[in-house]
Amino acid sequence: MARYKDEQCRICRREGQKLFLKGSRCYSDKCSISRRNYAPGDHGQKRAKLSEYGTQLREKQKTKSYYGVGEKQFRKYFEMASNIKGVTGENLLQLLESRLDNVVYRLGFGQSRAQARQFVNHGQFEVNGKKVDIPSYLVKPGDIITVRENKKDNATIKLNVEENASRPVPAWLEKDAEKLSGKVIRLAAREDIDLPIEEHLIVELYSK
Ligand code: SF4
Repeated sequence: MARYKDEQCRICRREGQKLFLKGSRCYSDKCSISRRNYAPGDHGQKRAKLSEYGTQLREKQKTKSYYGVGEKQFRKYFEMASNIKGVTGENLLQLLESRLDNVVYRLGFGQSRAQARQFVNHGQFEVNGKKVDIPSYLVKPGDIITVRENKKDNATIKLNVEENASRPVPAWLEKDAEKLSGKVIRLAAREDIDLPIEEHLIVELYSK
């Protein structure tokens, strides 16, 4: 996926809401949404009313941005979600939440999902005692996610744990800050996911 490296804030401004893509900056008064809550570009201050299709499309784009997932992979998750018993939109969000990079972020080891993805990519984490460096790895109930023994002195991860000590860990996860590890108690339910996503719009878009 082509990613904005330094321009994550433009994505938030385009969506008109905070997507928390930059870690601590997102919680400070330096957040671009706090200062310029209008779309980027020359005509950004005149937000056009969206068509039904446009609204559905924006919801999908916003969700992809939250989780840092490209179109092809997102579509794959949708197909997987459609094949799971239950509500497709909720299944979709559950799959996205189960990604290892998201779990590392949710446990407070990363300041943002992008940083968590980088940690996973760089082999800083193991699942059930085995190194996993695939951010899209899907966790399952009972999995134990730990900072690898030889990475436990990573100053950034330690600092993140300190700074995120008060950030609530979702009920489907359990964190052991001292051991730099976490456990998946169960898969995320819709009510565990605190993101303002109207997943039915994504289902409608893909059902056209
Ligand atoms: Fe979005 Fe964070 Fe930038 Fe604010 S600081 S606009 S929440 S990426």
